[in-house]
Amino acid sequence: MDAVVLLGAPGSGKGTQTAKLCEEFNYNRVSTGDIIRFEIRERTLFGKTVEEYQAKGLLVPDDTVCEMVFSYLSRIDGRGLVFDGFPRTLFQAQMLDSFFCERDIRGLVFLFDVTFENIESRIVNRVSCPGCNTVFNRSLDRLEAGVPCPRCGTGIGVRQDDTIEVLRNRYDIFRREVDPILGFYGRKVHVIPGNRPADEVYLDIIKQMNFSVLDSLNS
Ligand code: AMP
Repeated sequence: MDAVVLLGAPGSGKGTQTAKLCEEFNYNRVSTGDIIRFEIRERTLFGKTVEEYQAKGLLVPDDTVCEMVFSYLSRIDGRGLVFDGFPRTLFQAQMLDSFFCERDIRGLVFLFDVTFENIESRIVNRVSCPGCNTVFNRSLDRLEAGVPCPRCGTGIGVRQDDTIEVLRNRYDIFRREVDPILGFYGRKVHVIPGNRPADEVYLDIIKQMNFSVLDSLNS
């Protein structure tokens, strides 16, 4: 089985690329942010525990997130996986690595390289569908909060944590946590310039996926 792991600041394009990969390869989407928002909306016990962290842009504690992710992974089928928003700490990266080793999963890790200025305008313009989790850009997609999602019909909304103040917090946390993760993965990480049209970023990912298939055939 294959897994694609997408690392990047909030608004760097992880969600968009995850959706494209899952659509094209029929992979399972493991988007921790989406799972957390779903639990909060459904007012589950887990949702109530993590709500405050999410609202403030703080990371949910490692043990709580890991329990959620690995219990989610135990329930899904054997298709490939795309990780969007996990791992976010060194501990999570180590846990995921053990999971991959135990199950003989080949993981490909990408980092979307963007600056704060790049993501600021994306986040300000971001609206998303709580039904199918598709992310839209207000100006590019000409959609506003409240209108039905063109994909599934659910009312489109603005994420509670997509404010400049919370974004700054999330970005600072990302910068602090990502270095140890990059140190852990070392040369396994493929750095992709993220401030480009989504289709270009996608092509880079696909190219790298193809190289990696060729590598494994030759080894
Ligand atoms: P995202 O949709 O990936 O931007 O995640 C939204 C929020 O969910 C984050 O700001 C955190 O509060 C929480 N979250 C998502 N993924 C994780 C994770 N791997 N570890 C801890 N908290 C997370």
